[in-house]
Amino acid sequence: MALAYFNGNIVDMDDPVIPIEERGHQFGDGVYEVIRFYQGKPFMMREHLERLYTSAKAIRLEIGKQQNELETLMLELAAKSGLENADLYMQATRGVAPRNHLFPKCPASISITVKPSRELPQDVRKQGVQVVLLPDERWQNCYIKSLNLLPNILAKQEAFEQGCFEAVLVRDGFIMEGSSTNMFIVKDGKVQTTPLSNYILAGITRLAVKRIAEELQVPFVEKPFTPEELLQADEVFLTSTTSEVLAVTSADGRQIGSGCPGPVTRKLYEHFQLKVK
Ligand code: PMP
Repeated sequence: MALAYFNGNIVDMDDPVIPIEERGHQFGDGVYEVIRFYQGKPFMMREHLERLYTSAKAIRLEIGKQQNELETLMLELAAKSGLENADLYMQATRGVAPRNHLFPKCPASISITVKPSRELPQDVRKQGVQVVLLPDERWQNCYIKSLNLLPNILAKQEAFEQGCFEAVLVRDGFIMEGSSTNMFIVKDGKVQTTPLSNYILAGITRLAVKRIAEELQVPFVEKPFTPEELLQADEVFLTSTTSEVLAVTSADGRQIGSGCPGPVTRKLYEHFQLKVK
């Protein structure tokens, strides 16, 4: 059963629990994480927690719980949900205080939800997805997993309205990442992805794929690439906690490679499944 948690209490998913002056709600003043559970076990929980604390530090937010306390709390909630395959969302905000831009003197709020994981339909996985390239209108600190997702939401909606699964964000002539995914191209058997910087989120699935490529001795390069290189690639794929490894078969209406998920993408996906199952 799906369940929710807010500041010490387990609540019903539909309970109206967030106070009106909660800063996440009023300012988006907080950070978040999404962790997937497979067969009751979290995937790369430590890495997610480390990224959460990096994000919190970057916005000068004291979460008020040690990493291991938070880990225990998440594991307890996931176990309580009874869900084997679940998406756990966790938000940490600067708390509940009368509206004022300046930091309040109050404890952080923590909210968590555990819901059945959203599986992509098998035919989508088999066929791959379409993407559209859009300008990256986000700020300079995209390495922070901020609750402020307006540019991402607008880009994803635009992609959806154009019949696409994802918006691929372009800054200064280079591909950064998707609105909620990291982007990869495959050319001549080499996997290439945008290097980590403040302009992209250090995806945990990106890291998992990097480790898998190293294990399989597939060349893996972290080097910027242009929209043209993406269109000329043999294969393109994206990664995220919820999409895992997903083939991209067209961009801006132009076919990529054979127009079907390619062999390198399929191999990385299969090995990813071996890690999580
Ligand atoms: N980039 C952005 C902007 C995202 O929102 C996400 C999803 N959290 C990702 C990349 C992929 O990260 P992860 O693999 O950790 O889910």
